[in-house]
Parts: sequence; C-alpha cells; structure tokens
Amino acid sequence: MKLIDGKKTSQEIKKEIATEVAKMIDNEDRSPHLVAILVGDDPASQTYVKNKEKSCSEVGIVSSIYNYPADVTEKELLESIDFINKDDGVDGLIVQLPLPDHISAKKIIESIDPKKDVDGFHPLNVGKMALGLPSFLPATPFGILQLLERYKIETEGKKCVVLGRSHIVGSPMSILLSRKAYPGNCTVTVCHSRTENLKEITKEADILIVAMGQAQMVKADMVKKGAVVIDVGIHRIPSDKTKSGFRLVGDVDFDEVATKASFITPVPGGVGPMTIVSLLKNTLLSAQNKSR
Ligand code: NDP
Repeated sequence: MKLIDGKKTSQEIKKEIATEVAKMIDNEDRSPHLVAILVGDDPASQTYVKNKEKSCSEVGIVSSIYNYPADVTEKELLESIDFINKDDGVDGLIVQLPLPDHISAKKIIESIDPKKDVDGFHPLNVGKMALGLPSFLPATPFGILQLLERYKIETEGKKCVVLGRSHIVGSPMSILLSRKAYPGNCTVTVCHSRTENLKEITKEADILIVAMGQAQMVKADMVKKGAVVIDVGIHRIPSDKTKSGFRLVGDVDFDEVATKASFITPVPGGVGPMTIVSLLKNTLLSAQNKSR
C-alpha cells in the first residue's frame, strides 16, 4: 500500500504557485487577489475562511474577507457581490457556504461573475466543465485530479466508482473522470443513498472515490484488492487517545481498507489540503488570464 500524501503534494504545489505569483509581482507589479464573503458566525465556516486566508498569504496571494452578520439581507449581499464583480482589482470571489436560510445560495452563486467564480460553482462553469471546455474546476475534484496525476495513477479504461453525488464533490468528480483526458477515460458509476447493493458495486472499482459524509462507513469488504481509494470525508469523532478528546477520520475505515488498497489517501492530510491549494490555483489562473 502506498500513501497518497496530500499534505506534501499541496506544499509542492504551493511552492509552484508562489513562484508564479512572484513572477507576476515582478512583471506587473500586482498579486492575484481573492475575496471571501463570510456570513454569520458559524465556527466551522470561520475556520475554513481563516485557513484560506492563511494559505493565500503563504503564496503571496492577497486576500480580503467581507464579514456580514447572520441577519444580512439577500439584497445587501447581492449588492456587495455586484460591487466586487466590477472591481478590476479582484481576481477571485468566493462565498462561504452554507448561508442562512433566508438567503438563496443558488441566487448568490448565480450572481458571481463566472470569470471570478474560482470555486467553480456557477452554472456556466459547471456547464463548461461538463462539455470539457476550459473553466474553473470545483476545488475538491480539482485537488483529487492533481493527486491522481502527481502519483501517476493510471485511469484510462479503469472502473471508477464515486460514492456521493453532491454538486461540489461527487457529481463533478464523476464528470471529470469520464472525460476524454488524463486523468479520466474511466468507466464511471455514481452511487448515492438510493443505490441498491452498494457493496457489490464498490467491490468492482479499480478507483474508489468516497464522498458520502458518513464516518468510516467504507470497510475492507467493500473494496477490491489493489484498488486506489480516495477519501473525501472529514469527521471529528470522540477519542481517548488525543489531548483534545477528538480525532479526525474520513468516510473510509482507514486501518481496515489500507490493508487492501494499492494507494490510499489519509484523513487528515489527504484530500483536505489539496482542496485549498486548488482554490489558490484557480485564483492564480484567473489573474493570469486577465493579464494576457
Ligand atoms: P453531501 O452530504 O452533500 O453528499 C453526500 C452524498 O453521499 C449524497 O449524494 C448522498 O446521497 C450520499 N450518501 C449519503 N449516505 C449514503 C449511504 N449510506 N450510501 C450511499 N450514498 C450515501 O456531502 P459532500 O459531497 O458535500 O461531502 C462529503 C464528505 O466530504 C463530507 O464528510 C464532507 O465534510 C467532506 N468534504 C471534504 C472536503 C475536503 O476538502 N476534504 C470538501 C468537501 C466535502 P443522496 O444524494 O441520495 O442524498
């Protein structure tokens, strides 16, 4: 079994991004600029946005956070997005999800200028991705593609099973891996909560991508010997072995499945760090496209 080290890979990619940013500063006297909109005081969302801010500063990308109280109106938020859309000094704009119930996430996402939609959630970017046209790829699937590529994992003709069909992970992942490209050219099956005989399907997979949001649900008997296993899930579970009383686990039972897999991502240190790095990469690409 070989560990797919997302932490190490993300650090390598961060160095590459930092080099490109330094070139941009030298040549154009400017850095890429990412704006994150954060609504309310959900601790998890605050942590995600802080981590994005920290990663930006590590590579020289300028970041700004627009904080709004939980009772901000949809109209105010749309006005703010319109203002940022028109600001030539901003290359990327993300809105941290989830949003409070009185705000339509769909409306908000659709109001972001697709050219600044570095999360790749705007319908125009999703459509372009599905057609194989250049677009911003959603961060988590983009990060997984980079892991497959950097670990030189063969994908052509392989049976790939994606567990989960969310708009941000499972669905785009299935589209990207069935594309006529590398990584891709897989024969993809998508599973979800209505799938029957799940185990029979996952056992056939050469590449198993798990994004179900169910802690440690994928066990060894669901995995083919020699499969490549990518675990997207992230959960905090109680533990008597850590000082904090918690530990992080994925959707895959790592200890069991690692004995059968040829390659596997750990949690933490697998897909997670690659997600943030992909956002940085999209922001850089946006800034570079503007300068050409
Ligand atoms: P969602 O909850 O949006 O989607 C989960 C998917 O899994 C759904 O399609 C659901 O089916 C399916 N599912 C749930 N239970 C079962 C089951 N018992 N059998 C088969 N299918 C099932 O999750 P996300 O895609 O947003 O995220 C998945 C996991 O990845 C979460 O743990 C999340 O925290 C993590 N995550 C990690 C990221 C990272 O950077 N590491 C980034 C994004 C997410 P149905 O559609 O029928 O409801």
